Amino acid sequence: MHHSATKTDFDRVAETIRSLGFKPVVMPGAERTAIGVLGNQGPVDTAPFQDLPGVLDLIRVTKPYKLVSRDFHPANSIIRLGKGIRIGGRSPFLLMAGPCAVESPGQMLKTARFLKKLGVPVIRAGAYKPRTSPHSFQGMREEGVRILAEAGRETGLLTVTEVMSPDQVDMVAREIDILQIGTRNMQNFDLLREAGRSGKPVLLKRGLSATMEEWLASAEYIMLEGNEKVILCERGIRTFETATRNTADLAIIPLVKSVSHLPVIFDPSHATGIRALVPSMSLASVLAGANGLMIEVHPDPEHATSDGPQSLHFKEFRELNRKLQTLIGFAKTKRLL
Ligand code: PEP
Ligand code: MN
Repeated sequence: MHHSATKTDFDRVAETIRSLGFKPVVMPGAERTAIGVLGNQGPVDTAPFQDLPGVLDLIRVTKPYKLVSRDFHPANSIIRLGKGIRIGGRSPFLLMAGPCAVESPGQMLKTARFLKKLGVPVIRAGAYKPRTSPHSFQGMREEGVRILAEAGRETGLLTVTEVMSPDQVDMVAREIDILQIGTRNMQNFDLLREAGRSGKPVLLKRGLSATMEEWLASAEYIMLEGNEKVILCERGIRTFETATRNTADLAIIPLVKSVSHLPVIFDPSHATGIRALVPSMSLASVLAGANGLMIEVHPDPEHATSDGPQSLHFKEFRELNRKLQTLIGFAKTKRLL
């Protein structure tokens, strides 16, 4: 819309969109406000809009994702996560860390206190665990959610945990600050919709073998429910290479950021599956333009119920955090980013 467009102009355009059977979505931007024309009943006839007052331009967005794209929202999205913590744009680089799974109140509290001391604002841990084998530890489920929430309350940290099915969303959204959708559920469309409807920030991991387009189309499902708080997470993809657990696709970070306004974080733990590779890949992701990291750390990785071999010991995490802060400071002062 033209910047001089009036409310009447906006209303008329919205009404015209509705009369054609589509849904208008107003998207305010720094330079102009766009009105998205959304729906799944085929191409939009542009003729009815041509001469409407206030209309500056008609842009056809043919991608399978629209709300996610910079065509609709040119500026970087900044997502408020709670307790004054933000991610995206020029917000500080955000660290999320914690064990793969909630195992006990003691394990969570110990980790939360450790992270708090280092200034890491978000603690992660899985309560519902998607495991390849049904014979592996499946997580502490509701009890795990409550233990994580309690560790968050006790230390003032924000919390993030995975939801595996739509019926878990309500309970988890009441207790936890950020909902994670795991790689195996990236295309569980009912789960995406339900997480979208919760209004909570959603951390959407890239599917095991998902293309960028599929990943962004999944983010679109969440945004279509009116939830703009989506964080994308690159966690490695499956390739022919078996030397690492997955193949870290760092190149996708700047590529996603060029087409989407959403923040992107990197998970070096699942991307590599090897503890020794986590520090170097974490550092590399900073210069690739990641907005943050999600790292597995455990008080006793040798006895972890899951993902011990890729989890850092506290000492290793402390050292990595020092390096990250040094690199981020350097990159900022030298304008590398
Ligand atoms: C996890 O974060 O522990 C997890 C299971 O991740 P992913 O869905 O990326 O495998
Ligand atoms: Mn894990």
